[in-house]
Amino acid sequence: MQVSETVLDAIGNTPLIKLRRASEETGCNILGKAEFMNPGQSVKDRAALGIVTDAIGDGRLRPGGIIVDGTAGNTGIGLTVVGNALGMRTVIVIPDTQTQEKKDALRSLGAALVEVPAVPYKNPNNYVKVAARLAERLNNEDEDGAIFANQFDNVANRDAHVRTTGPEIWEQTDGKVDAFVSAVGTGGTLAGVAMALRERNPDITIALADVPGAALYSYYTTGELASEGSSITEGIGQGRITANLEGLEVDHAFRIPDDEMLQTLYSLIADEGLALGTSSGVNVAGAIRLARELGPGKTIVTMLCDPATRYQSRLFNPEFLRSKGLPVAPWLEKPVHIQP
Ligand code: PMP
Repeated sequence: MQVSETVLDAIGNTPLIKLRRASEETGCNILGKAEFMNPGQSVKDRAALGIVTDAIGDGRLRPGGIIVDGTAGNTGIGLTVVGNALGMRTVIVIPDTQTQEKKDALRSLGAALVEVPAVPYKNPNNYVKVAARLAERLNNEDEDGAIFANQFDNVANRDAHVRTTGPEIWEQTDGKVDAFVSAVGTGGTLAGVAMALRERNPDITIALADVPGAALYSYYTTGELASEGSSITEGIGQGRITANLEGLEVDHAFRIPDDEMLQTLYSLIADEGLALGTSSGVNVAGAIRLARELGPGKTIVTMLCDPATRYQSRLFNPEFLRSKGLPVAPWLEKPVHIQP
C-alpha cells in the first residue's frame, strides 16, 4: 500500500513546472515550484511543519497545546492544517487588510481568528507583537500551554527550506539549476533555499524579487532599509532584516511594480493554465527579469506560492483594480458573450 500516515506526509515534494511562455520569451529554462499543491495550498505549510516539529522536539509543544502566530494568512492556514493533524489548537492574529478569502479559510479550518488593525512593526499593536503577547498569556492560562510560532524570527522556518525545498530543487534539476529567485515575507524561503543550493554549488545565483513599499530592494542594492510606493500584494514585502534573513547575501535584486506582477499573473493563467496568487506574479516577473540579465540558456527556479482563489475578490475584481489604476485581465475586461 502507498499510504501517507497523516496529511503532514503530503507537505513538500511539489512538482517543478516549466513555464513555457516565460522560457520561450527569454531563451532560459524558467521553472516554477508548485507550492500551491501543498495541503494548506501554500509554501507556508513547509515552515509551519518545521516550526511545530521543532517546538514538539524541544518539549515546548504537546498534543492539546495552542499554536499562536501573527500571519498574513498562509502561515496561519499551514499551522492550522498541521495543528489539526496533531491534535493542537491554533490562534491566528491577522491584519484586517488581508483578503476575506484567507480569513474565511482560517475560520473554516477551525482556527481562532484575531483580526487587528494593520499598523507598522514598530507599533506595539502590530499583529506580530499582539500574537507574541497572546501566546504568553495563553501559555500561563491554559493547562496544555501555548507557543509563539514566531515565523519571522524563528529560524526553524528557514531550516524547513534548507532541509526540503532547496534539496528538492537540486534533485529535480539534476543539479543543473543556475539561479533561484524569490520574494520575501519572512525570508525563510529565499534564505533557506539559498543556503541549501549554495552548499551544493557556491556559484549559484540568488536573486530577490521585491515589491514597492518593502525595504529589502533598497537594502540589498544600497545597504539602507528604505521603502517607496505601495503594492496590493499580500504575504510579502518586508521592512526589516528578520532572523531568517540574517547573513543572506543576494546577487541580484528587482523591484516589481503591481502592473508587471498582474500582467505576469494573467499570462500564467492564459498561457500555462496556472491561476496563482500575487506573490507568484512577483516571483515569475523576477525570474523573467533575471533571465534577461543573465542571458539565454540558464535554468532559473522560482516559487508558485499559492492559488489565485485566495485573492479572488481583488485579483478578478475589475472595479477594485481600476480604482488602483491597475490592469484588468483581458477576458474580464471584454468577456466573450455567446448566445445559448
Ligand atoms: N507568498 C505568499 C503568498 C506568502 O504568504 C508568503 C509568506 N508570508 C510568501 C510568499 C513569502 O515566503 P517567506 O515567508 O518564506 O519569505
